[in-house]
Amino acid sequence: FQGWANVPMGPPDPIFGISETFKKDSFPKKINLGVGAYRDDTGKPYVLPSVRTAEAEILKQDLDKEYLPMTGDNSFCEEATRMAYGDVYDSISNRLVAAQSVSGTGALLLSSRFFSKFYPSKDIYISNPTWGNHKNVFSNAGLNIKEYRYYNPITKGLDIEGMLSDLSQAPNSSIVLLHACAHNPTGVDPTHAQWNDILRVVRDKGHFVLLDMAYQGFASGDFARDTYATQLFASNNVPMFLCQSFAKNMGLYGERVGCFSSLTASPEEAARFESQLKILVRASYSNPPVHGARIARFILKNNDLRAQWAGEVKGMASRIISMRQALRSILENDLKSKHGWKHITDQIGMFCYTGLTPEQVATLSRDYHIYLTKNGRISIAGINTSNVRYLAEAIHTVTS
Ligand code: PLP
Repeated sequence: FQGWANVPMGPPDPIFGISETFKKDSFPKKINLGVGAYRDDTGKPYVLPSVRTAEAEILKQDLDKEYLPMTGDNSFCEEATRMAYGDVYDSISNRLVAAQSVSGTGALLLSSRFFSKFYPSKDIYISNPTWGNHKNVFSNAGLNIKEYRYYNPITKGLDIEGMLSDLSQAPNSSIVLLHACAHNPTGVDPTHAQWNDILRVVRDKGHFVLLDMAYQGFASGDFARDTYATQLFASNNVPMFLCQSFAKNMGLYGERVGCFSSLTASPEEAARFESQLKILVRASYSNPPVHGARIARFILKNNDLRAQWAGEVKGMASRIISMRQALRSILENDLKSKHGWKHITDQIGMFCYTGLTPEQVATLSRDYHIYLTKNGRISIAGINTSNVRYLAEAIHTVTS
């Protein structure tokens, strides 16, 4: 063996790369708007008080560290899927297969492997734009990445005609990846009426839906209200996978807590599906980690703590909304920007697709120590009352 001479240097990850650069920057007013991780109003990572309480209670129970089953903590999966499918859950639970996953990315990974092994079409349609890692996950599994139109840069809103037309023109039975709520990176979600139109096309074409739900609660501040798409597809018996993450809404980023679920046609099909899912998991990582799922299960199964958690999520969503308003207001009212910034408050969830060009983004990082992805996406969670004016002034200068 002559060493890894054939291994070329790979590019840094667009988001984790930003965090590394940010860490090295010693400028006191630096701002990291790259990573989609919630920060409190002092700019610090936020561990939810409900999570702290659950951890303390779990510690008291003196639990063992035995392996979980291949599909993880069943009781956690049941609570997680009940929360995502809402009122539809009871009518589908006997044909729903669920497995605890290594956060949302792990759920996507399981989806990608299952498609690659068993799904007839290898074409997956993703929104243009989408979360950067979607392409990596699905192309790694040998799937063909296709895009459907989603964002209209002129209106800074949804290109629903383009989206419906592209999904209609895709070959029948294609895989369609949809963001269940709080679309990343654009912060633009379909309205209920538009979701109904999307459902119509999906059904006409016999497409398979992969719902990525990484931000339940972050779109509206209300878990139930963010289940519109999940409930719509499930109640219409669209064959679907759902990928849930508790990274953002429980702040369990590094604990890697997620859930993969598949809505099958019958209990018998569910049993066959589950048997193959176990085989896939066994060969990949054997079984998922125990600690984070225990925390999530504890909160989900304890009524008081669950109510407290819902309040904490609402608090995070509200802080994000108030930062959107502050940023827009300073740009428009105080700095009299000649550009319109209505999209900052129209868009929802953790992100705003600002419309800043790659050159403006580069100037922001070079001259102002403000870091964001090249596509102009900012994580609103990185803004707080102390840095919003500095940010607005920098954006104003680079766009003037
Ligand atoms: N899907 C989307 C759209 C995301 O934005 C993210 C995280 O940023 C994920 C999935 C997966 O995140 P995680 O693996 O941390 O749960």
